[in-house]
Amino acid sequence: MSEPLLEVSHLTKRYGQTEVLHDVSFSVRQGEVVVILGPSGCGKSTLLRCINALEPVQSGEIRLGGAPIDRSAKNLPALRRRIGMVFQSYELFPHLTVLDNILLAPCKVLKKKREEVLEEARALLKRVGLLEKENSYPRELSGGQKQRVAIVRALCMHPELLLFDEVTAALDPEMVREVLDVMLDLAREGKTMLIVTHEMQFARAVADRVLFLDGGGIAEEAAPDEFFDRPKTERAKQFLNMFEFDAVRPEKKTE
Ligand code: ADP
Repeated sequence: MSEPLLEVSHLTKRYGQTEVLHDVSFSVRQGEVVVILGPSGCGKSTLLRCINALEPVQSGEIRLGGAPIDRSAKNLPALRRRIGMVFQSYELFPHLTVLDNILLAPCKVLKKKREEVLEEARALLKRVGLLEKENSYPRELSGGQKQRVAIVRALCMHPELLLFDEVTAALDPEMVREVLDVMLDLAREGKTMLIVTHEMQFARAVADRVLFLDGGGIAEEAAPDEFFDRPKTERAKQFLNMFEFDAVRPEKKTE
């Protein structure tokens, strides 16, 4: 079994006096897709933000490929480049075209030549069905299209780990599928992903492992079928009862 790419050990995170995460430990192996589920406010976003060093932590350690992610470390920018994050709110620059949004970080941060990245950017845009939008501005796109551009932008940096924070939560229902399909495709391709979502069918289909976060910690960690069919804790049962499931089992990503 491969070494973990991401290791979170005994992580504790407080906002002021409020402890949001308490002694959280887990790891993600190369090529693994881990889905984090849990009730609203249980700290899922905070956990992703700590992993990307967007938030200071009070204790514990986060390692990527063995290197500690420490907000004060000199190599933090280099470490951060190895992690791609996609947010609920897209975070695209409104004054830049789709293509320029995508090329900005590879050119500015990785110092690549525009021509070098252009081909890949276009290939990725084509893959998500948006090649014809390369010269459009974000305001000219639907939410689902914006989110697919945000995913392409993250991919163009070749991150080793992709973090997705409720990326379909702000989308109209008809646009959710187009974004989830892109993520399923990335999972099939073997990308290492840590995903926060409220889309339960998708979670079950895409996950290699589910972490159920509750009360500041990991209340359950299980294979998706085990978690959805036989949740162990009362809290997980209550949580799952809030969602309606189709009788139809979702497509598995290995098929
Ligand atoms: P989730 O993603 O599971 O909905 P969050 O990680 O967004 O949960 O939030 C966890 C808890 O931390 C919530 O109680 C929230 O109000 C609190 N919180 C989140 N961000 C901040 C912040 N910047 N300052 C203070 N409290 C925060």
